[in-house]
Amino acid sequence: MTLARPAASHVFHRHLRNLPETAVGGDGPWLIDAAGRRYLDASGGAAVSALGHNDAHVIGAIKAQLDRLPFAHTGFFTSQPAEDLARRLSGLAPPGLDHVYLVSGGSEAVESALKLARQYFLEIGQPARRRIIARRQSYHGNTLGALAAGGNLWRRAPFEPLLMEVSHVSPCYAYRGMAPDEDEAAYVARLADELDQTIRDLGPESVAAFIAEPVVGATAGAVPAVAGYLKAMRQVCDRHGVLLILDEVMCGMGRTGPLFACAHDDVVPDLLTVAKALGAGYQPLGATLVHRRIHDAIEGGSGFFQHGHTYMGHPTACAAGGAVLDRLLDDGLLARVPGMGRTLRRILDHHFADHPQVGDIRGRGLFLGLELVADRKTKQPFDPALGIAAKVKKTALANGLICYPMSGTIDGQRGDHILLAPPFIMTDSDLEEIGQRLHTTLASVLP
Ligand code: PMP
Repeated sequence: MTLARPAASHVFHRHLRNLPETAVGGDGPWLIDAAGRRYLDASGGAAVSALGHNDAHVIGAIKAQLDRLPFAHTGFFTSQPAEDLARRLSGLAPPGLDHVYLVSGGSEAVESALKLARQYFLEIGQPARRRIIARRQSYHGNTLGALAAGGNLWRRAPFEPLLMEVSHVSPCYAYRGMAPDEDEAAYVARLADELDQTIRDLGPESVAAFIAEPVVGATAGAVPAVAGYLKAMRQVCDRHGVLLILDEVMCGMGRTGPLFACAHDDVVPDLLTVAKALGAGYQPLGATLVHRRIHDAIEGGSGFFQHGHTYMGHPTACAAGGAVLDRLLDDGLLARVPGMGRTLRRILDHHFADHPQVGDIRGRGLFLGLELVADRKTKQPFDPALGIAAKVKKTALANGLICYPMSGTIDGQRGDHILLAPPFIMTDSDLEEIGQRLHTTLASVLP
């Protein structure tokens, strides 16, 4: 097969010695490279391409906006697409999240949330509240503030000491974290106690916010919180006047079934971040949904949020976001997610439920993960030196499959998982094809 890699590149690639193929086209859930090879996109890149790769409605909306007005700087103007998108998102969001800060991606959305939390406490006269608490198993972005919040050890390590003071608590990770003699309620109570104690140890008057992903994505491969966990965390935060930030950059915008993943748990955060499927890859787009309490404190206080980016509220990106919402809601794609998720889960169970090196199959909706282990009984992860995740990625690509294998953080060490987050437009036979190709891939990679 002809390789479609550039022979030499002036793009500063992530993997400097292993350049990727060149993508040239999209056809529904398929990506096509310069050699004409087709790849079934089972992870939407990194949970981005929820509508596949050539959605006519979204592309049409972008073209129409470009003809009208590509860009106007928010220091001078607002735009109709930004106003429309913010109005629609806040109307769909949990109650109270009335305002939407529109940015260009997930890290920017998280940075905005962290700074909004900080400024909120300045506005209401609690300037000592600047500490953030996050979880050891989390990824919140690669900019330095978001990186400081995240708990992914190998992403953090080269840049320590990081800019912000962040304390980390245990994740909600039933597969490894729940004790054998514990039920979910006892596990939740233990995790709530840990957060409560951490806040007390730091001094509640110094803590601004607790941040968590409702379903953990890149660090662990679609780990949903157990029932009652987010509610318990919300209660602990409320007890101490700490804000709750839910990071739905990966798991939001319908990926787990409802538009916002926190709806599963009936929890309303103070700040909610989304990105990825918000623009679905058609434009770079992210958003921080802000509770009216925070907005009103700043509006009634200094009247100015000390933050901003050149491309915030970008009209063309917002037009794309509006068109994505049309597809999800008006065209019924969102309603397909739970059923498709059950089908994909059945397929994964069929191929891997008894696989000796698949320790756990988990997730919610079309956000599913497989944890790979050297020993299913002891749950011993593979030796990181084996580079299992990297091999899975390469072999899957050779088999015409895009999945998202990662070496994440498991109990303080590295461990391998595969994340699946397919476009909502797939057919049942596409989902079957994912199972087949992943089966072939793991058969040749796992020792
Ligand atoms: N938060 C979460 C939960 C994410 O999964 C990611 C990206 N994987 C980010 C934040 C950062 O988003 P971006 O890469 O768009 O900056």
